[in-house]
Amino acid sequence: MDSASAKANKAAAKLVVGNWKLHGSLAANAELLARLLASPVLAQGRAVTAVCVPFPYLAQCQQLLGGSPLAWGAQDVSAEINGAFTGEVSAPMIGEFGSSYVLVGHSERRAYHGETDALVAAKTGRVLAAGMTPIVCVGETLAQRDAGQTDAVVERQLGAVLAALDVPQAARIVVAYEPVWAIGTGKTATREQAQAVHERLRAQLAAKGGEVAAVKILYGGSVKPDNAADLFAMPDIDGGLIGGASLKAEDFLAICGAA
Ligand code: PEP
Repeated sequence: MDSASAKANKAAAKLVVGNWKLHGSLAANAELLARLLASPVLAQGRAVTAVCVPFPYLAQCQQLLGGSPLAWGAQDVSAEINGAFTGEVSAPMIGEFGSSYVLVGHSERRAYHGETDALVAAKTGRVLAAGMTPIVCVGETLAQRDAGQTDAVVERQLGAVLAALDVPQAARIVVAYEPVWAIGTGKTATREQAQAVHERLRAQLAAKGGEVAAVKILYGGSVKPDNAADLFAMPDIDGGLIGGASLKAEDFLAICGAA
């Protein structure tokens, strides 16, 4: 990353996004969201904040979070817009509930649902076309890291998405680097390990076009209140994608406060 884009990027607010995964109920969500909104942390606006929730709870988020500093979105999207695709949920449907963000290519989707780079690229395009921000997740497994393939894997995953977008579209994405071995395991990449990958991803974004260099790159993988500030202090870490800790109000608030 050149120093000008590094400075511009550093000056921008961090983005902290919770991924609730397959958790929640109307009652539990209402309590969690009320506790988040009751705190001054989100209103201070030092970080841009959002939660990505299971599809059925988008309406609840729209009702409870409308007009608040906490944005919301979904964890997946169909690559199709409509038709005979039973069980799918399209980007325009997600957008109808006031959603701002959609996760695409989360490692759990890639691992358990066989999502390919091409499918992730198609989903990214659908989210952009519906006027929302795709959070494109990339990351290597432990075996790939041990084999020295980390850079090649994440560059292939991001490259497939960038190849399908023009420069203005690419400038509207968010990238989340999530080493698979650090998700839900309690093992966090060291801030140096994370920064090294983020720097490579930044260079890849910059090569697409000047304005793409400012795309936010989040780190995800066992981010907790006690490691968030350290990670967020790195020059190419623009915020976090938070799984388990986003289900506990005090932990999510502490992470947002560290941003
Ligand atoms: C995630 O689900 O994207 C994630 C990073 O999970 P955790 O924070 O629990 O590792």
